[in-house]
Amino acid sequence: MKIAIIGAGYGGMAAAWDLRKAGHEVIIYESADYVGGLASGFKEPGWKWSVEKFYHHWFASDRHMLGIIKEMGLEDKVLFPRPLTVMYHQGKFYPFDSIINALLFPGLGWGINKIRFGLVGLFLRLTTNWQALEKTTVEAWMRKWAGEKVYKLMWEPLLVGKFGEKYAKQVNMAWMWARMHARTTRLGTFEGGFQAFADQFAEKLHAEGVEIRLGTPVTHIQRDSTSGLLELATPEGVEKADKVLVTLSPGVAAKMVPSLPKEYLEGLLRLKSMGAVVMTLALKERLSDQGYYWYNIPKSAGFPFLAVVEHTNFVAPENFGGDHIVYVGDYLEPDHEYFRLTQDELLDRFLPSLQKLNPRFERDWVKKTWLWRTAYAQPVPLVNHSQNIPAIATPIEGLYFASMSQVYPWDRGTNFAVEIGRKAAKIMVEG
Ligand SMILES: Cc1cc2nc3c(=O)[nH]c(=O)nc-3n(C[C@H](O)[C@H](O)[C@H](O)COP(=O)(O)OP(=O)(O)OC[C@H]3O[C@@H](n4cnc5c(N)ncnc54)[C@H](O)[C@@H]3O)c2cc1C
Repeated sequence: MKIAIIGAGYGGMAAAWDLRKAGHEVIIYESADYVGGLASGFKEPGWKWSVEKFYHHWFASDRHMLGIIKEMGLEDKVLFPRPLTVMYHQGKFYPFDSIINALLFPGLGWGINKIRFGLVGLFLRLTTNWQALEKTTVEAWMRKWAGEKVYKLMWEPLLVGKFGEKYAKQVNMAWMWARMHARTTRLGTFEGGFQAFADQFAEKLHAEGVEIRLGTPVTHIQRDSTSGLLELATPEGVEKADKVLVTLSPGVAAKMVPSLPKEYLEGLLRLKSMGAVVMTLALKERLSDQGYYWYNIPKSAGFPFLAVVEHTNFVAPENFGGDHIVYVGDYLEPDHEYFRLTQDELLDRFLPSLQKLNPRFERDWVKKTWLWRTAYAQPVPLVNHSQNIPAIATPIEGLYFASMSQVYPWDRGTNFAVEIGRKAAKIMVEG
């Protein structure tokens, strides 16, 4: 078969890997002039490693990603440092990267709250019955089982941060289960950065005979009634394929294939997601004197962002010509003003708060900044969300769809992009 894949993110590349190995002719169409999608990175002259546009790491439990890396013989390039994660409480940050540190966290006191926090965490680690948990919201479940204080202090800030006030109370408990069940405190990356891995993945695909057409957006897909093949409109002309896999957001996919039956199309359009705005800063000095990598900050603490991530407390600054790389970012709805403000306007909003993290911080520490925004960053799983997940095989014969919005109950991640890409490949081959 001649198979077209739309998108050279990890989902598209993983599908291409298996489809080519199964003997098919595979072409990937990618609108950007690089591979890697949301997990792509950039590199300044003088940097040995690339920096991801949106902060990225792997978990030790990311078996689909680590598995495909092994198949490619690149496992020696995976590194698992153990960076420090901290949690905000009343103006201070406390280590929060192990069960012991979580239990020592002063916000919960020493009584029943700490015990309930521990027991709830243990239960979520052990249970596999996420189907029961998706019937209720995190808010209702945590209030009931962890208690009001633990919910307010530990879980509500996470929900409001990730999903905004609008969805925070609607997210289902299976989402929280997936995070607690699958994540590890050991965090991994690839030698050279995620972009180095994406480029090596693309090279392996080339070597197998996969064609990757960069800078080639697909605008429309329809069936050609004469040949029965699927037609793809690209700036270079119309291309034909026996089967097509689309790996884009549900909204973009719906626009690309308006001939999809109404029910499927409406299902795509009903799916909700949050966008992300992330600024990357190259600083002359280290921001965190204590060497913190990941700062969890509740919105209620008044910071103009949700996350601060000092990348060079994960990967050494020597790989970036001595620059200290810091991300500040937030998950927001695409109509939020952060999607409209200029880079300088956002910088003016963000910089004063960095002094709260390090009183010595001065504006002249900032050597350079970059701004990254995406309207599609985090799917929002509502109650009974499993019923909303679009099938990989669409009602149009030969047309398949595999996106971040379908990896549920898992939270989005490159590991699950690989998993769903490979699952789609299997369905495309086996029917
Ligand atoms: C802020 C943020 C932080 C994250 N942190 C992590 C993390 O720490 N660890 C982790 O594993 N994951 C993380 N993720 C998630 C991870 O990036 C995604 O789950 C994964 O990259 C999705 O891969 P994908 O192939 O499904 O989609 P994408 O990466 O979105 O790939 C889709 C591709 O399609 C291309 N495309 C779009 N339109 C067209 C068109 N019309 N024609 C052709 N091509 C087109 C795009 O350019 C893109 O390359 C994070 C994501 C965000 C936003």
